[in-house]
Amino acid sequence: MEITVENMDFSNLDKRISHLTKEQIVNLMEKYYGGEKVAKILEEYKIKISVSQLYSLFPPIITDEVCIHCESNMVKPWQSKSWSSFVNENRKYCINCGHENSRYCNCDYCEEIKRKKILEEQEKQKKIIEQKRATLASFYDESNWTLKLERELTLEDRLYLAVILRSSLSENTMYIEALESNKNLLAPTDDFEIELIKTLTGRKVIVPHVLSDINAFEIEYKDDEDFQITYGIYKVRYRINIEPDDLDYNAMIKRLLYPNFSAEENFKEFCYEMWKKISLNECLDYLLYQMRKVGYSFNPGDKTIRVFENLLEHFSVAQIYGIIYRAVANSTQRYQAGEITKIHAQNSVISSCESHGQRALAQGWKLSNYSRIRDLPETYISLVLFTSIMQIAELGFSEKPTPNF
Ligand SMILES: [Zn+2]
Ligand SMILES: [Zn+2]
Repeated sequence: MEITVENMDFSNLDKRISHLTKEQIVNLMEKYYGGEKVAKILEEYKIKISVSQLYSLFPPIITDEVCIHCESNMVKPWQSKSWSSFVNENRKYCINCGHENSRYCNCDYCEEIKRKKILEEQEKQKKIIEQKRATLASFYDESNWTLKLERELTLEDRLYLAVILRSSLSENTMYIEALESNKNLLAPTDDFEIELIKTLTGRKVIVPHVLSDINAFEIEYKDDEDFQITYGIYKVRYRINIEPDDLDYNAMIKRLLYPNFSAEENFKEFCYEMWKKISLNECLDYLLYQMRKVGYSFNPGDKTIRVFENLLEHFSVAQIYGIIYRAVANSTQRYQAGEITKIHAQNSVISSCESHGQRALAQGWKLSNYSRIRDLPETYISLVLFTSIMQIAELGFSEKPTPNF
């Protein structure tokens, strides 16, 4: 790079060299890049700066490029003579407004542009949220939904609904609070709990409430009229989409909270089937809990379910808790003693439960009852079914399921 008075910009000269004429500056730069001792140059030209920083005072090179903001010519700075190129080609900047050709530039102009972009983005987000709100408000507007008739609810609807209402009905009884604060407390096992909620939403017994947290919904628009709404089943509030038999909402809420269907003809059969279902899920929940506690990773499949269904024909959940507890303890003991591998130990738990049950039956052992544990408290569904509906309370846990209760 040729060093001349013409191709450099002297407009913002550093005061440490401002006592020199342009020609003197050109001379001293030629000496610097020519290899003369820097200390000598500093002394000769009476410049006060460290040897290694002298180059930073040099007036920058003028380029043909024009600043996009103020239309001055952009300049490029010098760098120390230890670099292969004396001029830094990569750092062009505007000596007038400070703009740099970089997306990280924080000159006033660029800052203003960034600020505008952020505002535009916020405006866009606001519009998206407004559209979302409007879509949800019209889609979930009560007048668009046919109410289910209270007398047409199945026993299953009424049991599941009582679970949801007992756990999460709002103080003013007008909606159901987001279920997430009662997650794992509605029913044993995640699968059963999700099935319970989805049964009610699927039958439109409960419907997402317009006054839910908007973030609980996702809407995919194909166009304004054609859209797909998805929502977090634990995150939305729900509206009770039922028309009371007597058109008295408050009286209906009371009936739904404390269902009494002992007069229904399939009452006994329904309760027996549900008793077995709850018990099975309590066993699986306890099994998963004990297995996770000792570091086993396990996903109950069909075989496991068959084994526990069979055990429940002879034993209560309280007794099966004992069977599971011992099976897991024995398998970890054998694994820790080095007799079997971890995979083997974990796989042996189910067959060990099965054979323990069979031996107990064959030899007429009386199995002792284990208690519920603090980490797995009684869930709402067992409370509602056993205590409110069947009125057998703890027996639902300590007795084996039977149709004659
Ligand atoms: Zn500029
Ligand atoms: Zn800039």
